[in-house]
Amino acid sequence: MDISFEHVTHVYSPKTPFEKRALDDVSIHIPSGSFTSIIGHTGSGKSTLVQHINGILKPSNGTISIGDFVIKANEKKQNLKALREKVGFVFQYPEHQLFEETIIKDVCFGPMNFGVSDSEATKRAEESLKLVGLPSSFWHRSPFDLSGGQMRRVAIAGVLAIRPQAIILDEPTAGLDPRGREEILSLFKDLHKNLNMTIIMVTHNMSDAANYSDQVIVMDGGKPLMADTPQNVFAQAERLRKVGLDIPESMEFLKMLTEKTGERRTITAFTLDE
Ligand code: ADP
Repeated sequence: MDISFEHVTHVYSPKTPFEKRALDDVSIHIPSGSFTSIIGHTGSGKSTLVQHINGILKPSNGTISIGDFVIKANEKKQNLKALREKVGFVFQYPEHQLFEETIIKDVCFGPMNFGVSDSEATKRAEESLKLVGLPSSFWHRSPFDLSGGQMRRVAIAGVLAIRPQAIILDEPTAGLDPRGREEILSLFKDLHKNLNMTIIMVTHNMSDAANYSDQVIVMDGGKPLMADTPQNVFAQAERLRKVGLDIPESMEFLKMLTEKTGERRTITAFTLDE
């Protein structure tokens, strides 16, 4: 399921004194099965961009295609439920949305909302909890007895249980310690690799973008400044610094190193904006 934006503009509060053009003629392509990171300074349009992919926001102009689902500006009636079955959205601090008495009930909530039967929802919930690595001894406990990292995994299981083809992550590791961060990112790396799921991740963490993605889109002032492999993007460190990104000097060597070894380097020595 390829995702593409063609000349997409988004204007908040049009024709008011608060009018803000948050996306300005954006054309990008996210191939099916890719792991794409979206980076950019605060206010560059990252959240606005990803919220168009599952119909939370509608374009003021332009067209977005998510597989065969097409969203156009000024189109009134659309079956967004069908879209949201294909594209899951993991919001920042998703654990804040947990509410059921037990973990398993919480994970069942998503699929049941899409009309799946009780037994099928339970099956999917169990499968998703296994995917996020939560042992069955936990499933009938309250989600509120878990650690922060475990709660986040339950919330992610809730999205996976809908069985989306693509998943959007908005700062998925915010507030987690390095171990929790690594666990969550490895989970998405596995989902990407084993289930061929398309992953779209908004992140402030440059090393996560470099380590996990195969495409990095750099947003600046509502426009995509670059869309390329992490090697090619981070090789242009000076250009990235000019748009307010904090690129450690060690990252400038990424391109050289990957060219030498012919494989993706893992950079774990530094973390930004934590
Ligand atoms: P990022 O995710 O990169 O921080 P956003 O997409 O949140 O950027 O915001 C892009 C621009 O749109 C910013 O200038 C922001 O202030 C503005 N903006 C975001 N949400 C709204 C809103 N609901 N109403 C008006 N302006 C908004």
